[in-house]
Amino acid sequence: MARIAKPVIMNVTPGSVAEQAGLKPGDKLTAINGKPVRDDLDFQFLSADEQMALTVVSPTGKRSTVNVRKGLDEELGVDFGGKATYDGIYTCHNNCIFCFVHQQPRGMRPTLNLMDDDFRLSYMHGNFITLVGITDEHWHRIFEQKLSPLYISVHATDDDLRAFLLGTDKGRGIMKQLRELADAGIQFHTQVVACPGLNDGEHLDRTIRDLTSLGENLLSISVVPVGITKYRDGLYDMRKYTTAESQVMIDQIEAWQEQLVPDWGTVLVHASDEWYVMAGREVPGAEVYEDYGQLENGVGMIRLFIEQMNAATDRLPAALPAPRKVTVATGELATETLQRAADWLMAHVDGLTVDVVTIDNEFYGTTTVAGLLTGQDIVKQLRPRGESLGDLVLLPAVAFRETDVKSLDNMSLEEISVLIGGVPVAIAGSPVELADQATAGRLAPERKRRLKSLRFRHQGEAAVVNMPRPTAEKDPLGHCERMPGFGAPLAK
Ligand code: SF4
Repeated sequence: MARIAKPVIMNVTPGSVAEQAGLKPGDKLTAINGKPVRDDLDFQFLSADEQMALTVVSPTGKRSTVNVRKGLDEELGVDFGGKATYDGIYTCHNNCIFCFVHQQPRGMRPTLNLMDDDFRLSYMHGNFITLVGITDEHWHRIFEQKLSPLYISVHATDDDLRAFLLGTDKGRGIMKQLRELADAGIQFHTQVVACPGLNDGEHLDRTIRDLTSLGENLLSISVVPVGITKYRDGLYDMRKYTTAESQVMIDQIEAWQEQLVPDWGTVLVHASDEWYVMAGREVPGAEVYEDYGQLENGVGMIRLFIEQMNAATDRLPAALPAPRKVTVATGELATETLQRAADWLMAHVDGLTVDVVTIDNEFYGTTTVAGLLTGQDIVKQLRPRGESLGDLVLLPAVAFRETDVKSLDNMSLEEISVLIGGVPVAIAGSPVELADQATAGRLAPERKRRLKSLRFRHQGEAAVVNMPRPTAEKDPLGHCERMPGFGAPLAK
């Protein structure tokens, strides 16, 4: 059954067309020119007209139609509180053998168990979707509203293998779907969650070969390793990649990069950061990541972190007025990068000592990403350090919910501080935040404007990508297929 959209107006811009038309916070804007407003895409698409008939339902349930006129570039002047969709989120009906959601312990907050497979969130927030079971209505809407680029989980182009990986026969036919998108000019980023012995090796070669046959509307292919937690009872017998296998994977992908660059002008295929960490290899230079198009999939985060760190060097104070010690706690995956940041800070700031502590993820088991650290593991492993923690403990921002700054197991920074002996606790999500916190706010202001966007050249064209991608209800699991890291190599 179709879900009813609830686009409740939260704010009306003073002086706007909406205010002049009498719209008020609390009203529902259910249709524009007779078409339902199901989400922000509908709203942007439908409210672009100069003349509109707005169907409005007041908080008391009174329905009315309001006719408005506005300039072509003029905003209507309402907002819906930052929500991306007003009729809920389309969820998946797959049963992927590597699904991260299925590896959650009981009792975690509901958003961690959200199995979204919503093409709208793919377009708006870069969430990966499988296109399995997409309705004709939704499929046509992608073409009608030109929703491009999309982020698509391919995993394998062989139909039998993909159906097995996704746990459903409906997983067949991905190449046909992608070809239709490409033919219509819809661009897409793709990902492969690699599972040992299943869709890697020659299967991965075939997947890459098939995808590159789709032409220039294929924007990228990322390969991320499957993520495993200790909560896999009753699930497919899956294991992590070894160091040696990670090295083989990187070699395979880099061979493809070399092969593709001459024709494509881009490496096209990327190994996520996690492969390099597992293989004990340095991540590639910034030029390989080009527009950082799959940053939130853990592709290029380490390189970007290092680039941002270097760019902030001239903002560091030469010395602190009094000696200061800071402890930076993170997951295993980010330890080396943060140690680099600690060395950078100590080399440039006299009086500053930075200790980096790796927190083992006992709660989830084999997971090494920072975004899945729990408050209880942090407390348990930092408390014995007592006074040696120094003047401040810095934790990875990605391990805390944006809305209320609580950990996965609902601990606040204040609670953690009390439980580890009263040392102040803060979070940092970038080298700049890390440096500012570590130097007690002594980082000099940026000379130019803040780095809100990343300028780059793609295939000879100047372009800008916003950083980071905005997310409506940001959670460590941006979507089902990823595991959050510091930055976050993600996999499901
Ligand atoms: S991995 Fe994603 S698409 Fe697959 S079952 Fe889990 S939530 Fe659904």
